[in-house]
Amino acid sequence: MQTVETHPTLAGAAAAMRERSRYIAGGTLVMRAMNYGATGIETLLRSGDAALREIRHDSGGIRIGAGVTMAEVIASRELDFLAPVARVIGGPAIRNMATVGGNLFAAHPYGDFTVALLALDAQVIWADGHREGIEPFLAGRSGTRGLVAAVQVPRPATGEFRFHKVSRVKPKGVSVMSIAGWLPMAAGRVGAARLAFGAMGPTPLRAKAAEAALRGVTLDADGIAPAVRVAAEGLAPADDALASAWYRREVAPVHLKRLLLAERRV
Ligand SMILES: Cc1cc2nc3c(=O)[nH]c(=O)nc-3n(C[C@H](O)[C@H](O)[C@H](O)COP(=O)(O)OP(=O)(O)OC[C@H]3O[C@@H](n4cnc5c(N)ncnc54)[C@H](O)[C@@H]3O)c2cc1C
Repeated sequence: MQTVETHPTLAGAAAAMRERSRYIAGGTLVMRAMNYGATGIETLLRSGDAALREIRHDSGGIRIGAGVTMAEVIASRELDFLAPVARVIGGPAIRNMATVGGNLFAAHPYGDFTVALLALDAQVIWADGHREGIEPFLAGRSGTRGLVAAVQVPRPATGEFRFHKVSRVKPKGVSVMSIAGWLPMAAGRVGAARLAFGAMGPTPLRAKAAEAALRGVTLDADGIAPAVRVAAEGLAPADDALASAWYRREVAPVHLKRLLLAERRV
């Protein structure tokens, strides 16, 4: 038999975590796993902590509660730059339930929002208050048992953040790959760019070779050519039912180019 415990605070839920318990946020993945007979989950822990639903500015940027849904991201004026990411996650029913916190733990082919968080160099804020960069968080994600309270992102200047999801079924298909880019500009040239790919490794990964090749260039076909050439360098895509690793490596430069030149494909 499974039980559900509701805790008034996230810290309370974190303290109650034990061997065969699982936190449930929107439940789009947890409930599906349970419906398919996931063994090993005896207790579902949830929390009605109001802070989980907050979106607010603080000293380091915009703090997004882990319980904020994709629909709430789309509706938030503060998070207008992330609305194009949230809009391509599932259909309306999923977006009403799927949370930012749950997306941090969503394995491939999911986790599109986390690709954006990686490009934006987000901070992950745990229930006990300690902070961790998104990269170390992702590297250690499989072993984690703590609860996330919020993420914090900087607000990029207008036009400096871009996101592109490649899927076979439109508009609701899962990602063959997704790419997010944070491209700070100075005097018409790219500064310290951050590029993140989803579905090009076991977790979202940065394309560091392409980032380095973008430094100081103009965002036109000639300027970005060296970065496009090394798009997949350092990435480790897998074969799966959606695409082969070979195919992903072949098309990564095409999609990176579209992102960088802001070419739209529907
Ligand atoms: C039909 C369908 C379509 C989908 N399409 C997409 C898509 O296009 N793109 C995409 O990215 N995803 C997609 N998803 C996956 C999923 O809906 C999202 O990734 C969503 O953001 C997960 O959030 P959730 O709140 O529902 O997670 P839950 O199912 O509640 O939890 C998922 C995991 O995260 C853990 N967790 C949740 N919150 C926290 C927290 N605060 N601290 C610690 N651990 C936590 C849970 O314990 C669990 O292990 C889809 C799912 C379905 C069913």
